[in-house]
Amino acid sequence: MDMLNDTALAEFRAEVRDFLDANLTPQLREGAARATSVFVDPSVTLPWQAILHARGWAAPDWPAQYGGPGWDDMQRYVFAAECARAGAPGLAPMGLKMVAPVIMHYGTAEQKAHYLPRILAGQDYWCQGFSEPGAGSDLASLQLKATPDGADYVLNGSKIWTTHAHFANRMFCLVRTTSEGKPQAGISFLLLDMNTPGITVKPIRTLGGDHEFNQVFFDDVRVPQANRLGAENEGWSVAKHLLTFERGGKYAPPLIERLEKLRRREGLDAVLSARLTREAVSLRALQALEMKAMRGAGGSPALYASVLKVLGTEAMQRIDVLACEIEGPEGWARPDGQTSADLAVAVPRYLNDRAASIYAGSNEIQRDLIARLVLG
Ligand SMILES: Cc1cc2nc3c(=O)[nH]c(=O)nc-3n(C[C@H](O)[C@H](O)[C@H](O)COP(=O)(O)OP(=O)(O)OC[C@H]3O[C@@H](n4cnc5c(N)ncnc54)[C@H](O)[C@@H]3O)c2cc1C
Repeated sequence: MDMLNDTALAEFRAEVRDFLDANLTPQLREGAARATSVFVDPSVTLPWQAILHARGWAAPDWPAQYGGPGWDDMQRYVFAAECARAGAPGLAPMGLKMVAPVIMHYGTAEQKAHYLPRILAGQDYWCQGFSEPGAGSDLASLQLKATPDGADYVLNGSKIWTTHAHFANRMFCLVRTTSEGKPQAGISFLLLDMNTPGITVKPIRTLGGDHEFNQVFFDDVRVPQANRLGAENEGWSVAKHLLTFERGGKYAPPLIERLEKLRRREGLDAVLSARLTREAVSLRALQALEMKAMRGAGGSPALYASVLKVLGTEAMQRIDVLACEIEGPEGWARPDGQTSADLAVAVPRYLNDRAASIYAGSNEIQRDLIARLVLG
């Protein structure tokens, strides 16, 4: 049974389609189609978030008490599938998908009341300060030091690979509050203002030539202790909770749309067609698994998050290869000497997505986590 095409969802699907037809402007569709990264530029995503917010649909996964639309699992999946089908830009995950759920879980009443409405409305743009030059896979070895001083912490050190830090006005950040005991036991989780004196953001160019991430330096940066999420030295639990939201999710809907666009190309040879068909089947399997994960059936959220991260990002990279192979010959051979618009997206996208098996914890580390969770 195709759960997504269940007739009980037909009315909901029609409502979503009507909304998308009426509100997704050509500029927004064009901005999404030209994006060469899963992290779409905020000049595209924030206007779309404002439109969704006005309808109450900016955060489909949030509980209704915080401003979510109150949809069930299948409605949320249908919404994601319809957005992908219509070519809507994916919203920035750092606020809506990553820090918001941990604020809901660990935040004080004041923190929830302050941050959640601002995240929903797109008033705050967040970045993630976890990795450091000496701490990636081994995240617990992080060294950015937070020294208590009166009502503040004083931060010194740096974060690296910080996606969209050059756009963000907020960062959620892991800091070292003690070096005593196990490394995990000396970490705290802070919410900070990127405009605080002493913060410097320096760009790093990616392999694809984009300016997507940065190194962020902290020199005597004062952050109120009241901005800590959770107890002092218990930030590791907050971070683990957050990573489940970062890694899990709905990879299949946009990948299915990209693949179907390739399958509609005329003149594909039999070998390429067979590879596309095989990919279409494996994406349907991924979709089924994602729906199962949403219902929480048969596994822990952390296990699903790691499994989906590996399967989703590896499918993404295989589709990038197929896109370059299919767009390539025609795209290069244009009589005007220019590359085609599709190839101009496919190649940078291929380069950018090489990072997908690294960010949010590399796929080698995810396989290690899966082995531990499944095999003990
Ligand atoms: C595009 C992009 C965006 C990112 N955005 C952010 C961001 O916004 N905020 C943030 O905090 N971080 C971000 N990161 C950082 C990301 O989380 C780290 O790159 C990742 O965790 C890997 O850490 P590392 O780069 O230090 O590599 P390392 O940890 O040095 O690993 C190098 C290689 O060794 C392998 N390896 C390491 N340990 C093991 C092991 N025990 N077993 C098997 N293999 C192992 C890894 O899989 C990898 O292939 C981003 C990274 C990229 C590429």
